[in-house]
Amino acid sequence: MTMPRTSTTAVRIRPDIAAMEPYTPILPFEVLSERLGRPIDQIIKLDANENPYGPSPKALEALAGLGSNASIYPDPESRRLRAMLAGYVKVDAAYILVGAGADELIDLIMRLFIMPGDAIVNCPPTFGMYPFDAALCGARLVSVPRRADFSPDVEAIEQAAQENDAKLLFLCSPNNPDGGLIEPAELERLLALPLMVVLDEAYIEFSGAQSMAGIVPQKPNLIVLRTFSKWAGLAGLRVGYGIFPESLMAHLWKIKQPYNLNVAADVAARASLADLPMLMANVERIIAERGRLIEQMSAIPVLCPYPSRSNFILCKVVGPEAIAIKKQLEDQGILVRYYKQPRLSDHIRISVGTPEQSDALLKALLAISSQQEGQQCRISGT
Ligand SMILES: *Cc1c(COP(=O)(O)O)cnc(C)c1O
Repeated sequence: MTMPRTSTTAVRIRPDIAAMEPYTPILPFEVLSERLGRPIDQIIKLDANENPYGPSPKALEALAGLGSNASIYPDPESRRLRAMLAGYVKVDAAYILVGAGADELIDLIMRLFIMPGDAIVNCPPTFGMYPFDAALCGARLVSVPRRADFSPDVEAIEQAAQENDAKLLFLCSPNNPDGGLIEPAELERLLALPLMVVLDEAYIEFSGAQSMAGIVPQKPNLIVLRTFSKWAGLAGLRVGYGIFPESLMAHLWKIKQPYNLNVAADVAARASLADLPMLMANVERIIAERGRLIEQMSAIPVLCPYPSRSNFILCKVVGPEAIAIKKQLEDQGILVRYYKQPRLSDHIRISVGTPEQSDALLKALLAISSQQEGQQCRISGT
């Protein structure tokens, strides 16, 4: 008897993954360049919150000097980087685990806690990786929408967490995409819930606020996630870290891939921590530019920028369709983030670039706006 040609391995994959929608990945520069018919150096990329000033020159030097270390497996415990991070976040290295981006740690946390069907509370609109990894783990995602001002709805979270016996709560502060911080008193209140709170501080360096990393050793149920992708300009190298309660560390060490942080990422991250004044000067430049951009964009009739404590600005678009603005900017080689979700479909998110990039953006926005009959609008609080 001949076997049917259908692959038996394919029909036995997990049915939940077979039914899953594919993830829409971002397009690499080369592909964008071809699609827009523009050389790479004429594309202004303000769609992924990357650092317009790039990595520290010391990080680049360290990478260039990697030499034969590239042929040796990395330290599975990333001891040298964790020791430097302990100084940076002022928490003992015993509480710190590094990963291939904060993204890897989100996945690791879910693997540690979630059996299929277990509940995770998510507060949209927020970072897309939480639902992505939740789906991979077969978690039940309980969505508690943010309030109109994008702050987390604390009462609704408490109720949803209790009703669903949730194991994890994901919070992002400053939140992506609006750039708002969680109030310390609200965080404190949510920490009273019988679940693990994962506080994603990917953008904390741009906030001027105190990181919550320092209180993790005193809290049994708080994890703080951080990354080198944004402030240190290392998004392409994938370096993130988490500060975890002591009780989780032994278990995380058991389940992490032994060589999750590669040697290039490791040397670049350490060189970055040794070059803080230079990198923080860039952060200050981005913060200053954020202020100027918000001010200038507020004067453009079709846009209402929200206040931001991060390196991006969420704007409500009034009058024309947000997608039309995104496309018109794209035709001029300027990339911004557009969202299909109903709550955000009339918004765009713009990463803060260099002053030159902002000038090009503002010029293009003014030209687009002058063709429109938009109303001036204001977000309360700005
Ligand atoms: C960019 C981003 C991350 C991803 O960090 P990586 O270290 O690059 O994986 C995590 N959380 C939020 C909210 C982000 O916007």
